[in-house]
Amino acid sequence: MGSETETGAETGVVVRDSSTEEDWKSKPPYRTTPGNEPFDKKWTAHCHCGRVKYWLSRDKPLAAKFCHCVDCQALHGAPFQWAAIFEKQDLHFEKGAEGLAFYHAPDKTTAHRLPCKVSCAYCRSPIMDEGRNMVLMFPGIIKFGDAERRKLFDAQCHIFYSQRVVDMHDGKPKWSKLDGQSELMKEVERTDSGEHIVVGQARNENKND
Ligand SMILES: [Zn+2]
Ligand SMILES: [Zn+2]
Repeated sequence: MGSETETGAETGVVVRDSSTEEDWKSKPPYRTTPGNEPFDKKWTAHCHCGRVKYWLSRDKPLAAKFCHCVDCQALHGAPFQWAAIFEKQDLHFEKGAEGLAFYHAPDKTTAHRLPCKVSCAYCRSPIMDEGRNMVLMFPGIIKFGDAERRKLFDAQCHIFYSQRVVDMHDGKPKWSKLDGQSELMKEVERTDSGEHIVVGQARNENKND
């Protein structure tokens, strides 16, 4: 493992933004200062090894979706990914940015550069995708207690369904790419003879779901 060359070096451009380099650690969702005192802990989550722990202050996500894109397949080692959207201030990490690893996919660097994927630096459990204003949590590590409570995090739709490796028959809207900005796809089932038959219409063509 030793030394690693950052891919950004390929371009010959070295970005050093010293003014904001450490700034982000003192802002949500990473700040650990007493400024957090009114934080209302509605949900608790911790990574597989337990080194990363966080709380959520909102009852349920603003939205939740399943993403079938090839990047999620590669980075999650799974056929698709389940993400729940929160605002950064809804989230509080027990140890701030400590123990977290970052990955900025566009230039394949491990710097904290937005948008980035955040995982436990030790066990590598995926924690969230951090965007500029919002985060997409991966709810697999939230302690729901029971299936009824987990329903609050149910996904409303599938995105990047055109890149799927598995067909879903759950009646939820299936967008070819981003939701609201791409084609809605129909549910298709394969018969024993290998034919494809349409078993349902994408549901929310009137977007009034
Ligand atoms: Zn861990
Ligand atoms: Zn994806």
